[in-house]
Amino acid sequence: MSDVFENISLSSDTYQCRGCGAALKYKPGTTLLHCDYCGTDTPIDVKIVDEVEELDFEQYVQTEEILNTKATKVISCRKCGAESTFDESMKSVECPYCCTPLIEADAHEERLIQPSYLLPFKISDNEIQVHMLTWLSKRWFAPNKLKTRALHSNRQQGVYIPCWTYDAQTNTDYAGQRGDNYTVTVGSGKNRRTETRTRWSSRSGHISLFFDDVMVPASKIITTQVMTEISNWDTMNMVEADNRFLSGFITEKYNINMQTGFTSAKSIMESDIQYAIRQDIGGDKQRINSFKTRFSSIKFKLILLPVYMSSYTYNNKLYHFFVNGRTGRVTGDRPYSVAKITLAILTGLILLGLSIWLINKYG
Ligand SMILES: [Zn+2]
Ligand SMILES: [Zn+2]
Repeated sequence: MSDVFENISLSSDTYQCRGCGAALKYKPGTTLLHCDYCGTDTPIDVKIVDEVEELDFEQYVQTEEILNTKATKVISCRKCGAESTFDESMKSVECPYCCTPLIEADAHEERLIQPSYLLPFKISDNEIQVHMLTWLSKRWFAPNKLKTRALHSNRQQGVYIPCWTYDAQTNTDYAGQRGDNYTVTVGSGKNRRTETRTRWSSRSGHISLFFDDVMVPASKIITTQVMTEISNWDTMNMVEADNRFLSGFITEKYNINMQTGFTSAKSIMESDIQYAIRQDIGGDKQRINSFKTRFSSIKFKLILLPVYMSSYTYNNKLYHFFVNGRTGRVTGDRPYSVAKITLAILTGLILLGLSIWLINKYG
């Protein structure tokens, strides 16, 4: 396997050990770069974030130019197409999603928007085993074999996941209807009863809402649902993106561009706007006939969030674990044990049968 990645510098930012010259790796939970060979630690001078800087959306769309871009060497996975970057401190790297070896021949150079901020990995890959095992032990339906396999799996890879965040001022005009309930008495004699009816009246109005940091994951390998399942993200602890924090980790390339990301952000904002319209209309029921939103002062930024991924095959199928690199929160897809489920159903049926029998006998 001569073309498998070895000792090839991918990122221009590789940090060398002062002691022995080996490539350094970021040590999770610290502000240190660590040398695996001689043990030397080198401190990273962290830039404190005083004020979060964001980029102007309109300006970027009009000029298609942004100051914060850089030619970056990207490697695509031959099997799943996931694109990522990593540095010299990593050797024989596998695709974090499908475990296919990443090959130098599949590298190309691209001009990419650089991340502005990131959350560094806080927990180490030794610690995530504990989190994964706790998570699995609560999943009673998982096959036992899987539990042991997950524990002994050493295919854990820390991946920085790209996310767009958007700010926007929104102004919305709407037209709708407000429904107020009232009760009437109908029928007579035995059929006399009260019924609830709704009186509808037209309403229109204006809603002004500001959105701050609406997050849109831009990953190909991790779905938005998974990112939500392993949240929260302590974004208040973000640091300025410094490539030293990326040493020894894979960084996924953003898979959706900034404009497409904004389309998703808009629909997130619009569902909040609709909620606000309903609040504004008031009454017992609301109908929204139409609304038109103007988005202004749109700002965006690219951030990186730390996720450990672990892949394993079980009965020839590929499964994944995802662990929040800050909190240890786990999610994943897992096979179900047919034997355990059958047993549970049978037990349920027996108990049901028993209770019916008891009710008939003594009830
Ligand atoms: Zn060293
Ligand atoms: Zn892949």
